[in-house]
Amino acid sequence: MIKIGKYEIHRIEEVVLREQTALFADWTESAVDPIRDWFVGDYYSPESDSFTTSIHSWLIRGPDLTILIDTAGGDDKPRPASPRFDQAKTPFLANLAAAGVQPDDVDYVLLTHLHVDHVGWNTKLVDGEWRPTFNNAVYVMSETELEWRDPEKGAKGKSADASLPFVDSVRPILDQAQVRIVKGDEKQFLPDIDFVPIPGHAPGMMAVRLQDQGDEALFIADVMHQPIQVYNPEWSSRYCEDKTLATKTRASILAYAAKTGCLLLPAHFGGSHCGYIDHDGQGYSYRPSKVAP
Ligand SMILES: [Zn+2]
Repeated sequence: MIKIGKYEIHRIEEVVLREQTALFADWTESAVDPIRDWFVGDYYSPESDSFTTSIHSWLIRGPDLTILIDTAGGDDKPRPASPRFDQAKTPFLANLAAAGVQPDDVDYVLLTHLHVDHVGWNTKLVDGEWRPTFNNAVYVMSETELEWRDPEKGAKGKSADASLPFVDSVRPILDQAQVRIVKGDEKQFLPDIDFVPIPGHAPGMMAVRLQDQGDEALFIADVMHQPIQVYNPEWSSRYCEDKTLATKTRASILAYAAKTGCLLLPAHFGGSHCGYIDHDGQGYSYRPSKVAP
């Protein structure tokens, strides 16, 4: 657990995977050389030529407020287009309970974007139907993301298989749960919480900024998948839908984090899963948090 002002931040793990370095088209092993002492092991394995990729949610607990940021891959879901999430059985809800939270305690589910690994636990299978997992929560999602992914609105080039996360994890929420559809740039959406547009990886992706008592945490979703991108900010992942825009957004987030000293909490880093950005010559370096939330 990490504290930001009066808020507690916990990481709710679903699964930790190996991701081949083909994640980045520009990957070369020599990129590891400047950071080999801390990068090999916690984040990268030369033996298997793969990165550590965590799939998790971030939990914010305030005195009167419980917020979940993203909902990982989910259980029991058919995922022919994403086999790693196909018919999964994960300890996600047990891990949430271990942090002291039951699904009905969650007040808000903030969805940074609507990719398969960020919406899964929106719903769970009950008597053969997809029902909201967090019955008392307001689910918050971006208008741009909804427009882009809804198969009934064309879902711009998406196959039926690729639209399954929308069908079983977003549509039932629109039909059955409390929903707030946002622009993704709202200031003070909740006390101490702003949204910041971070388009590129997904067109309507938004960051969540938490500020209290002089502390700041920025939940940056998939602006970066691996800390090696801090050193190679022009690298976008193969999952990024608009790589040019993703690179531009990454540059602005790195500049902001280096200037403010805020804690960055990405959706997929290994190691301690979050950290800080420092200026380093013409570029930046990553300083992992000593505490893993
Ligand atoms: Zn992701």
